Amino acid sequence: MCSMPTPPWARSAAGANTYDAATATVLPTIYERTTAAAMTHGGINLGQGFPDADGPQWLRDAAAEAISTDAGPTNQYSPGPGFPWFREAVAAHQRRFYGVELDPQDQVLHTTGATEAIAATILAFAPAGSEVLAFEPFYDSYGAIAALAGAELKTVPLRAPEFRPDIAALEAAVTERTSMILVNSPHNPTGAVFTREELEAIVGIAAAAGAVVMSDEVYEHLMLDDAAGHSTILSIPGADQVAVAIGSAGKSFSVTGWKVGWVTGSARLVNQVRGVKQFTTFCTGGAYQYAVAQGLQDDRGFFAQNQAELRAGRDLLAAGLAEAGLRVFSPDAGYFVLADVRGVTPKTAAEFAAELVSAAGVGAIPVSSLTLPSTQHNPEDELNYLLRFAFCKRHDVLADAIGRLSDWLG
Ligand code: PMP
Repeated sequence: MCSMPTPPWARSAAGANTYDAATATVLPTIYERTTAAAMTHGGINLGQGFPDADGPQWLRDAAAEAISTDAGPTNQYSPGPGFPWFREAVAAHQRRFYGVELDPQDQVLHTTGATEAIAATILAFAPAGSEVLAFEPFYDSYGAIAALAGAELKTVPLRAPEFRPDIAALEAAVTERTSMILVNSPHNPTGAVFTREELEAIVGIAAAAGAVVMSDEVYEHLMLDDAAGHSTILSIPGADQVAVAIGSAGKSFSVTGWKVGWVTGSARLVNQVRGVKQFTTFCTGGAYQYAVAQGLQDDRGFFAQNQAELRAGRDLLAAGLAEAGLRVFSPDAGYFVLADVRGVTPKTAAEFAAELVSAAGVGAIPVSSLTLPSTQHNPEDELNYLLRFAFCKRHDVLADAIGRLSDWLG
């Protein structure tokens, strides 16, 4: 007897650890569940990575101006690939920061945040039955969309203390079914910044395998260690043949709710991503494109100011967690500190996180939510003992969270 294949919604949910087999329903994402739990317990949410402080006033004024005056675009449909001046601003930004030349006409595509860019890219390049390689832990949407495409997500380790990509393991994981390699640098949740040598190796492996590299670079302006030095994948020789890069304004400008993203790459690959993107939303956010275009042309010192604040938040949180007895991994970039809970509990990080939010009112994300089920079922794997804490919060909020955690641990 043949049965109906698993429906796409269930594949997608299972791919991101959000399928509840007991009730055959979809759970909210781990970020939403942690935020809700923190609110229920009157707590502090260091789970979801969004800043307490909104982005610069001049940027928000520009969006407001676009909506309510004739200064910017109208409130009607924008061009599917994004406004020409938005695409020019992205191209100018890539030239200024990375020396990468892009034709704004056909090498830049606007998307509704990096989330739509990720979805359109994976759906464009991962045929059903193929294998998609990602470094684990991985951003949860990669698992959801690979599963939706009918592809199998296979992982390559990023492990403590340095969280370097295991290039030998990547090479060994490639098969004739490998369609894509997913890169995320600076990396969520570890804060690892891939070196140029590592990116070169990844590009070489992809080229030899005939695979497409998707490089998620949304944390590009959250560099906290100057020595780490972020490179876009497109600055690697030969990458334009095999790679697309994804950016987003959300983190760079502290406007995570705006959902302005972009895909860059060769005209051929960007055109192919467009084949999906123009039917997922067609177009969004003309007013936000208007504001972000101004920010990309000139951030008016915001990137540096934001980095300085984040660096201080990271150091405050890392010191507090270490003081409380956790082993802390201080990141080179991004919004998150990872901490190993084994110094204070025999429990897994997922169990500890559930208690931490209900008893101490501090929300954090177990890194196991960003791994494959096979990793979660392996008690030896260190990822099951790591918690992710966001430090993109006001410093008094971070101090309060540390105080609650220390008091609770006694
Ligand atoms: N990629 C990574 C690695 C992220 O952490 C996030 C946001 N948390 C996104 C993509 C999504 O970005 P956006 O909000 O622009 O959709």
